Amino acid sequence: MKIHEYQAKQLLKKFNVPIPQGGVATDPHEAYQIAEALGGMTYVVKAQIHAGGRGKGGGVKVAADLNEVRQLAEAILGMTLVTHQTGPEGRVVKKVLVEQALDIKQELYLGIVIDRAQARPVIMMSAAGGMEIEEVAARTPELIVKEAIDPAVGLMPYQTRNLAFGVGLDGALIRTASNFITNLYQMFMAYDCSLVEINPLVVTNGGQLLALDAKVNFDDNALYRHKDLIELEDPNEIDPLELEAKKHNLNYIRLDGTVGAMVNGAGLAMATMDLIKLAGAEPANFLDVGGGASADMITNGFRIILGDPRVKAILINIFGGILRCDVLAQGVLEAVKQVQVQVPIIIRLEGTRCEIGRDLLKDSGLDFTVASDMLDAAHKVAALA
Ligand code: ADP
Ligand code: MG
Repeated sequence: MKIHEYQAKQLLKKFNVPIPQGGVATDPHEAYQIAEALGGMTYVVKAQIHAGGRGKGGGVKVAADLNEVRQLAEAILGMTLVTHQTGPEGRVVKKVLVEQALDIKQELYLGIVIDRAQARPVIMMSAAGGMEIEEVAARTPELIVKEAIDPAVGLMPYQTRNLAFGVGLDGALIRTASNFITNLYQMFMAYDCSLVEINPLVVTNGGQLLALDAKVNFDDNALYRHKDLIELEDPNEIDPLELEAKKHNLNYIRLDGTVGAMVNGAGLAMATMDLIKLAGAEPANFLDVGGGASADMITNGFRIILGDPRVKAILINIFGGILRCDVLAQGVLEAVKQVQVQVPIIIRLEGTRCEIGRDLLKDSGLDFTVASDMLDAAHKVAALA
C-alpha cells in the first residue's frame, strides 16, 4: 500500500523525524489559510499524488506570498499531473501540501528498503540527493553508501555514523543524522514498511536536517497488524478496475498489454502470462479467480477484464479441480449476457466436467474458440490481439 507525502510526513512526525511545517488543502482558500498560519516568508505548494517526479512535472511550486499560494493552489488542484512515474495518462491532483519554503544548503538521499538477496533491511544514503536514485546507482554507484541491518541485532550506532560520514557530513550534523536515521528505521520496522524514501533529505543553512519529501510503502501482507493505516488508503489513487476486483475478492492486477486473461490458480495464471508473452503478445492483466470460484465470481471477473478498453482478445484458461468447468462455462455465459462482448474469446478447459463445460459453450451459439492446449490457446489469442 502507498500513501501520500502529507500522510507519510505525519507518520515521520510521530517518530520524531523532523519535517517542514505545513498542512494539506483541498481548495485554494484552505491553502491560503494554512500558509497564513505558517507565517513564513515564502511557501511551497506541492501536488499530492502517488508518484514521484512532481517537481519536474510542474507539481511543486514556490510562492512568494499568500496570494501566490492561493493562485498556485488553484492552478495545481484539478490539474492532470504527468511525471515519469504516472504514465502518459497522468493523475488528477485532488490535494496540495502547503509548506514553509526552506533555506536549503544541501540535498541528500536517504532510503530504507528490504533487500531480498540479503533478506534484511538496507539503509542507503547518498550525497547526490534530489535526483532519481536509480540514475545515481547507474551512473555513479560510488556515491551511494549502504548499511544492511541484521534484524535480530537491530541498527547499530556505528552504522548510522558510517552513513553520515559516508555522505560527507561533519560536526554536529553527524549526531543529528544518526538520530534521524535511527528514528526513521524505527518507523520502518514498526509499520512493516517495504520502502521509506526521503529524497531529498535537506541540510538547511541553519544546520537543521529535515525530510523535505517522504515516500512510504507498506507490506500489504502485514496490514492486518496496522488497522490505523487502512484509513490512509486513497481510493482515487487505485486503479478503478483493481478496486472493483477487490470488492469481489478477485485477485486482479492491471497490466499494459492487450490480452485479457482469466485463469484459476496463481501459478497457472503466471504460466499463462508467460505463454502469452512467448506467443508474442502482452497480457492486459493478471487474474486469478481462485480454486473455488463461483459462477458469480467468474461473471464479475469477466466484466472487470472487459472494463479495460485496451483488451483486444480474452484467454480463459481453466483447469477444473475444485472449480468445475461447467460452473465456469455458466459464469462466462452469464457474463456475456450482462456485458457487450466485442472481442474474440479463446477457451482452454481441462479437468472436472470439462466436456459438459465445452458443450455448454458450444451450444450457446456464441462465438468462442476452443483451444486444444495452453500453447495453442496462447498462439490463437496472440494472433487475434
Ligand atoms: P518530487 O520528488 O515528487 O519531485 P519533492 O518533494 O522532492 O517532489 O520536491 C521537488 C523539489 O522541490 C525538491 O528537491 C526541492 O528542491 C524543492 N522543494 C520541495 N519542497 C520544498 C520546501 N518545503 N522548501 C524548499 N524547496 C522545496
Ligand atoms: Mg522527491
